[in-house]
Amino acid sequence: MLKRDDVVKLVRVVAETRDIEISCDECFERLDIFTEMELSGVKASAAMPLVGDHLDKCADCRSEFEALLSASRST
Ligand SMILES: [Zn+2]
Repeated sequence: MLKRDDVVKLVRVVAETRDIEISCDECFERLDIFTEMELSGVKASAAMPLVGDHLDKCADCRSEFEALLSASRST
């Protein structure tokens, strides 16, 4: 059985994890690697969920990502 304190701790960890969001700057810093992963067939959004999450929510970064993707594919 979990003690009440443990449950509280657990809930807090889950809440914090869900609340973590990165800024556009942080997203942009990781975007090169994210794009490389995506291009090499790795599930980038699974490896870097914060970036994937940000790209889902942020149209600016999403279009930057798509620009990077198509630029890399055409070379
Ligand atoms: Zn953004």
